[in-house]
Amino acid sequence: MHAANRFLRAIIWGGALHPLCLIGVRLLTMVSKSRARGLRWVDPAPRGSLLGTLQAWFKLVGGSCLRPWSWSSGPVQTVVNLGDALGLAVHRLRECFRLFMWKGFLGSKRHEVAEVSGEVSQRLVLSADWNSIRDLSFACPAARGVACGALLSPACMDRGGAPFSSSCIWPGCSVSCASFSHIAWNCPHRSNLLIQPQNALDARFGWGSIQSLKWLAEVQKQIWVTRHGDAILRSSH
Ligand SMILES: [Zn+2]
Repeated sequence: MHAANRFLRAIIWGGALHPLCLIGVRLLTMVSKSRARGLRWVDPAPRGSLLGTLQAWFKLVGGSCLRPWSWSSGPVQTVVNLGDALGLAVHRLRECFRLFMWKGFLGSKRHEVAEVSGEVSQRLVLSADWNSIRDLSFACPAARGVACGALLSPACMDRGGAPFSSSCIWPGCSVSCASFSHIAWNCPHRSNLLIQPQNALDARFGWGSIQSLKWLAEVQKQIWVTRHGDAILRSSH
């Protein structure tokens, strides 16, 4: 079954790795340097020119030109302005890329889309602490899977026809066809009775707080134990 999602992975890791983002960063840097050497603003910029290619990049990711040397995908966190320090402009270009990937995820057929879509989700994507999420993901394979959408509940696995029990993962619980919200946030037999966060992306992917990501990683480990036995945890680090 498909689990880790390419859009979610691109949002977390793509700022430094995804070719589309790297091309955008490179173009912006080149335009910035050329501007410092006297490049003039032309509208429309000729196709194939450096400026024209950067304009096309922003259009591709759903952005538009606000005024000379400034582009945005809509929210204020995505306003790229070459009058700012280049580091800030590059950061905001990456936010444009992340928002584009998020829209790609919302347009996919993933079963989580209904619970994480909505106007507020965009703001949450733009406010997530990716450095902390990446740091924990490096250290913990379970957290890495959770953050990329790879946690599949017993109910989800059952629907997909996987040969695993659909019962709740927590010892002492008799619920069958256990959903994600049951095993992560509602089961009274959980090893930690954390309250479900209001932030839907935090509750599903652990993107809003390290506390949630760590907890969902524990849920993921318990899933592995019920499906593969304790030895699975000794083989992961
Ligand atoms: Zn349960």
